[in-house]
Amino acid sequence: MQNNSIRFACNGCGICCKGRLVPLTLNETRQWLERGHEVAIILEAFEQSIWTAGPQQFAHAAGRAVEVPCGNSHVRAVAVFAGNALVQCQSLGDDGRCGIYEERPLVCRIYPAEINPFIALDPENKICPPEVWEEGEVLFTDRIVDPVLADQIERSRQADREDAQAKIALCETLGLNVAAWKGNALAVYLPDRQQLAEAIARYDAGKVGPARSNWKVRVDAPALRQQLHQVGLAFDDQLPTDYIFHAL
Ligand code: SF4
Ligand code: SF4
Repeated sequence: MQNNSIRFACNGCGICCKGRLVPLTLNETRQWLERGHEVAIILEAFEQSIWTAGPQQFAHAAGRAVEVPCGNSHVRAVAVFAGNALVQCQSLGDDGRCGIYEERPLVCRIYPAEINPFIALDPENKICPPEVWEEGEVLFTDRIVDPVLADQIERSRQADREDAQAKIALCETLGLNVAAWKGNALAVYLPDRQQLAEAIARYDAGKVGPARSNWKVRVDAPALRQQLHQVGLAFDDQLPTDYIFHAL
């Protein structure tokens, strides 16, 4: 057995069901809305000439992004649709258990393992209580050990890639086209549930095309603004009214 093996046994504490956004595939978003639950949308953007990580990380990020016009140039935009569990997940029961356990989203099945292939699992970065790392099956050595979990992670990555165009098209049809800069901040929208459901229904009926509106980025950090200005990107400098700007 490798020395770096990590054991894990979920104790069902439900901490990971509170105070967070729960990323959803497009199909999971449909189901989430059908349950009458709220969905948030996080928009972020990046650009190859200002990318600071390696080429493999860029390829991974670009695979789940869509190139859109921005000012005199283009950016890669990523839309993360996420169940709103900022207080707590609306499916979390009074008994502290998941009320949709058999249908829960992929990310709930995967947590606390990582979906991003460039981030190694580190218990210290997870919100699980310390005792859950002391027993149970080996979860991780230098890779995910459980083939079922590995398959769920791959399905999640694949859905990110397959849903990217549709999610950006849906944002455009809802008029959401300001993104924060990846790694610098998050632009979080809380769209009307009914409007989002209707937009997805129009998309499913083939009535939402791949229109490309001109996007803007919201960046407050002076040095980064200067960099982005030099490549001709357009900024949103209005006080944000339809999104929450959350600096990282
Ligand atoms: S769907 Fe279930 S497991 Fe996922 S956050 Fe909600 S209550 Fe927790
Ligand atoms: S926080 Fe960790 S231990 Fe608690 S329910 Fe979530 S995955 Fe399980």
